[in-house]
Amino acid sequence: TVSDYEIETADVVEDVAADAGPAPVVAVVGRPNVGKSTLVNRILGRREAVVEDVPGVTRDRVAYDATWSGRRFTVVDTGGWLPDAAGLAAAIAEQARLAVDLADVVMFVVDATVGATDVDEAVVEILRRSGKPVVLVANKVDDAGTEADAAMLWSLGIGEPHPVSALHGRGSGDLLDAVLEALPAPAPRETFGEQGGPTRIALLGRPNVGKSSLLNRLAGENRAVVDAVAGTTRDPVDELIELGGRTFRFIDTAGIRRRHRENQGADFYATLRTQSALERAEVAVVLVDADEPLAEQDLRIVSMVIDSGRALVIAYNKWDLLDEERRHYLEREIDRQLHNARWAPRVNISAKTGRHMDRFVPAIDTALDGWNTRVPTSKLNQFFADLVNSHPHPVRGGKQPRVLFATQAGVRPPRFVLFTSGFLEEGYRRFIERRLREEFGFAGTPLDIAMKIRE
Ligand code: GDP
Ligand code: GDP
Repeated sequence: TVSDYEIETADVVEDVAADAGPAPVVAVVGRPNVGKSTLVNRILGRREAVVEDVPGVTRDRVAYDATWSGRRFTVVDTGGWLPDAAGLAAAIAEQARLAVDLADVVMFVVDATVGATDVDEAVVEILRRSGKPVVLVANKVDDAGTEADAAMLWSLGIGEPHPVSALHGRGSGDLLDAVLEALPAPAPRETFGEQGGPTRIALLGRPNVGKSSLLNRLAGENRAVVDAVAGTTRDPVDELIELGGRTFRFIDTAGIRRRHRENQGADFYATLRTQSALERAEVAVVLVDADEPLAEQDLRIVSMVIDSGRALVIAYNKWDLLDEERRHYLEREIDRQLHNARWAPRVNISAKTGRHMDRFVPAIDTALDGWNTRVPTSKLNQFFADLVNSHPHPVRGGKQPRVLFATQAGVRPPRFVLFTSGFLEEGYRRFIERRLREEFGFAGTPLDIAMKIRE
């Protein structure tokens, strides 16, 4: 039946997108003309195949998002690669090795109407040695009459041949079930973000920047509820504060209000408190005293937020104290010293006068939007195809590392995995991050960019 396989609805995809770990990679390997591209299109449904019609990009685009039975994975069509190896056998062997390196599961496609060839046997050898799970696809089994052809492929010695017709869809549901079974178990879901409830905000900053003044202002102007569950009555941990009609949870307000004045080891405790607040928060608002030069400790707190992978808003407090000169100098200071957090939304406030209190919630929403952004794999790979063409990595030692394809492994914060043909140096990775931000936004969120290198 043609409708054996149907792409799932957008809601389901969204729901699945909450998986914690990176989507597993399924590579499709086989000789030319066995039906690899047809099979990939079958797996994807018509949705992405249409996007594929953009001329001139097809060869660079090899990775696609797919879901089956609620499981998200990335399909890689190795037919998109054209290794330099001389001769068909060598080229296919090279593709197989590449696929084995990158993939969690390999789909090995054989044309059942032709049967196993010498090249197929050679690929099987490589696949077997790798120890990676292999799903053997006996393609072009268009009707029951040719099923016997599929059974012949048991002779390859890599397990059960799955008869399918990539062209008509016959057997593709069973095939995908087999692929799912071969995938590694899904990573446990993030506990983080699963708790539901109000957005969790950590209010951070060195002593005297105005954290408790800001809390008093926010709680005083708005409805503040001490959370009786999280702490004891005497020493509540968090406060729930309603801002702009929504409730937010301010983390560890007890620590802010208690006004410890430890002398010995004050830094150590402050760092500890910041760290544990960050662990529980989704977004950090770092308060800075706008009327004083940026201190080492301000920068350290900002770095801690970035390292923790939380969304970030920077609030310049005590704006009421600023004169023209300081204001001018401040902009230059921010530019020079906070360049690693240029993407963070910024609010200029005064806890004392109440200036710009209404800007808090929009800034937090902007940061959380960036933090939750997921770029579809097709868009991401279009982006990298363009980038690699217009700004290739510099040649190092006669070699030019390339981004073969990329996937977004997760959100909160956005995490990317780049599959590359060599080590990308620091400068180039920074360039990639900058361009990703130009293209997709990501205001208010750190980005996590990892490489999977194939030497
Ligand atoms: P690739 O080179 O491995 O990517 O192969 P293609 O997907 O381009 O397919 C090669 C040819 O085989 C095309 O003409 C397809 O229409 C045809 N083909 C692919 N799958 C099937 C199938 O299941 N049955 C039949 N009869 N033809 C198929
Ligand atoms: P914390 O240690 O970060 O909690 O800082 P506090 O809230 O205790 O504030 C430290 C000092 O700065 C206090 O004297 C506050 O009155 C003052 N302060 C806080 N916010 C502002 C502000 O926006 N403008 C001015 N002029 N003073 C402020």
